Amino acid sequence: MRAVLFDIDGTLIKLGGAGREALARGVASALGRPFEEVLAAAMEVDFRGRTDTILLEELAGRLGVRVPALDPRMVAAYLRALPETVARSRAEGRYETMPGALELVADLESRTDVLVGLLTGNVREAARIKLAPVGLGHLADRPGGFGDDARERADVARAAVRRLTEAGIPPERVLVVGDTEHDVSAAHAAGARAVAVATGWTDSAVLRACGADLFLPDLRDPAPFLHFLESMDLLP
Ligand SMILES: [Mg+2]
Repeated sequence: MRAVLFDIDGTLIKLGGAGREALARGVASALGRPFEEVLAAAMEVDFRGRTDTILLEELAGRLGVRVPALDPRMVAAYLRALPETVARSRAEGRYETMPGALELVADLESRTDVLVGLLTGNVREAARIKLAPVGLGHLADRPGGFGDDARERADVARAAVRRLTEAGIPPERVLVVGDTEHDVSAAHAAGARAVAVATGWTDSAVLRACGADLFLPDLRDPAPFLHFLESMDLLP
């Protein structure tokens, strides 16, 4: 068995600002601040490859507030807002699937020797809500790593690798697919392999140079991906 763990934002889908808006709504509601003020602050935050803990902490910090990690009130308000912002993004044509990504997931899911899961900075319920429109909400129930697991992405990756090891899949048979250098370094910190795919918001030159085991401009051609998947546990 091998495991392939996908990042969500910029790798499988783009939400056209729905995630940022829902997070801003959650923070605004929990702190009793005007939504417009919080959204303006959220526009300044770099969301790439970061966990929900860090995003909420940074956003609240920009508003002059210190919050506990994954403040339950804030997370609950975020998760309440998210289905509606995602639905609006879809209705307005801003919700996108990344080229080839869903086809690759479907192909891998049809195999009995591959476990498909998620390695994401999103808390598990947010992952489920974001992926539900493309029929992939069930990936949130697979062994993987989520923003609920840790503050640092490397620790989220370690949590995922631990779960997969318990499921009988060793780290060298775990392949992480992500759109930022943070996905790559987190995978490597946990002893897994990493594919960098340039469909997110990261400059492809940066991504090409970040030390990924495989770089792909997108997931349209599955051949190099599948070849790497077959051979990766033979690598030194
Ligand atoms: Mg991403």
